[in-house]
Amino acid sequence: MAYRGRFAPSPSGPLHAGSLVAALASWLDARAHGGAWLVRIEDVDRPRNVPGADEEILRQLAACGLVPDRPPTWQSQREALYQAALDRLVREGKAYPCACSRRDIALALFAQGRERTRHGELVYPGTCRAGLHGQEARAWRLRVPEGVVPWTDRRVGVHLQNVAEEVGDFVLKRADGLFAYQLAVVVDDADQGITHVVRGEDLVDNTPRQILLQRALGVPTPQYLHAPLVLGPNGEKLSKQNGAAAVEVAQPAAALAAAARVLGITVDPRVAVPELLAQAVRAWGARYP
Ligand code: GLU
Repeated sequence: MAYRGRFAPSPSGPLHAGSLVAALASWLDARAHGGAWLVRIEDVDRPRNVPGADEEILRQLAACGLVPDRPPTWQSQREALYQAALDRLVREGKAYPCACSRRDIALALFAQGRERTRHGELVYPGTCRAGLHGQEARAWRLRVPEGVVPWTDRRVGVHLQNVAEEVGDFVLKRADGLFAYQLAVVVDDADQGITHVVRGEDLVDNTPRQILLQRALGVPTPQYLHAPLVLGPNGEKLSKQNGAAAVEVAQPAAALAAAARVLGITVDPRVAVPELLAQAVRAWGARYP
């Protein structure tokens, strides 16, 4: 199958040193494999969108020589697709409506004597699996099958996660009516024919959920490679919140050379952007054949 990769930024701010690493890694992998590289603006989580950040990101990418091979897409224009996928899952009994508030979930877990969380999220105890009992639907959840989901990352190797135990039935459409990242990303990767997902390591934990959703929807699982993160001064993933500066479009070679270094690739920062990128593609291709 022809290689197709993508970079899928959320427009919550301009590209910074950390998001440039993810952009560069996905672009390098596509180029090294003679594939196509797409850009998808992941703006489903409307409250987090910063007006103009999408156009700013595209301008920054272009300044760095990272130009998508197809016109970019915006998730906010694709919500009918997500709804159709959700409707199908519900029809097939693979997803279900849920009436629980956060408080209901906390109380149910407390009653079961197991206050479980993962990254601050409560593990859903399955209250509405058997129906709403006359209550009104707030959100929709995937009925997660029992068992461990094994998968292999091209950079960091084998991972195991028991999604049913560690996450529970996760949300596909939220109580505020917005589609969850998990559903949108899986529907889009499948609809756009993405064969290889290359993104930041902070998303590793989401991959087993996405694999389960792919199975539920009967679509292929792409190959995954999670790239190293740039850490901020507080040791957490670099973000606007911990002081990440926007990528300087006047100095693209310096920004790209720094991003390449994070990926373990050495390039000459004194050469022009096209030559720097060509060096990086050769080094990447040798590392991730
Ligand atoms: N939109 C996500 C983010 O910016 C990335 C999603 C993905 O690459 O799967 O963190």
